[in-house]
Amino acid sequence: MASRVDLHLHTTCSDGLKSPEDIIKEVKRKNLTAFAITDHDSIKGFLEARDLLGENDPELVPGLELSCSSVNGDLHILAYLFDPDSEALKSALEEFRIRRNQRGYSMVKRLNEMGIEISYEDVLEAAGTAAVGRPHVAEALARRKAVPSYNDAFQKYIGDGRPAYVPKQNFTPREAINMIHKAGGLAVLAHPMVSYAHERIEELVGLGLDGIEALHPDHKQAECDRLKVTARRFRLVWTGGSDYHGRGNRTGSVGSEKVPIDCLDEMKARVSQKRGSD
Ligand SMILES: [Zn+2]
Ligand SMILES: [Zn+2]
Repeated sequence: MASRVDLHLHTTCSDGLKSPEDIIKEVKRKNLTAFAITDHDSIKGFLEARDLLGENDPELVPGLELSCSSVNGDLHILAYLFDPDSEALKSALEEFRIRRNQRGYSMVKRLNEMGIEISYEDVLEAAGTAAVGRPHVAEALARRKAVPSYNDAFQKYIGDGRPAYVPKQNFTPREAINMIHKAGGLAVLAHPMVSYAHERIEELVGLGLDGIEALHPDHKQAECDRLKVTARRFRLVWTGGSDYHGRGNRTGSVGSEKVPIDCLDEMKARVSQKRGSD
């Protein structure tokens, strides 16, 4: 069988249900040659996995999935093959973590002002090792029995436009792409067929985008084929992965997208070409 890779996997360090250790087990079971842990806005899972791997294990590719917002909407940008020790990367992720915590704290404050008893500690407990987000506020509210269920928390209090909602302060695509380049990595548009992100490829190419994720469980076969053509037209690399979160059937399973090792080889060639031309 030809060598395969999976370049899009989540762990408990963001919103996945599997630990980095479990992901490694799964990657080995599926006989993948290489894999990338791409947690949302954090490289903690990547660092943990790196410490667990031995010489003959599958190759772990540095990865990360950044949440981006701008007036044109939200999208996700994947970062690959960056230097994990880059100061630009470390400080950007730290700032992101602070912004997320501040947002969680502001939501708790609003809820308290509305007379709901919930503390920021409750939210941190719900978050565990993950970066604080709305799901953890919802879980804390449900645990405190302030709402009948997790979904009610969104509907009544923290969903978009609800009374305790506080907007996200994400990086813009421009900031994300610049940061990834400073860290020596490649910026790849995640799942372009989700939320109409594919309509923004040209705009993102103008900002320095290096690639697009063509293979993803949410893409139909014809869409995958079209995205590969688009990648060639804009001289981008194309990538793919299962976006595995370990939850139900929401996305694929580890290795479910047939991504050949050539993809990773092309990404590496592009990185060395860029570093050489700096
Ligand atoms: Zn995503
Ligand atoms: Zn993802």
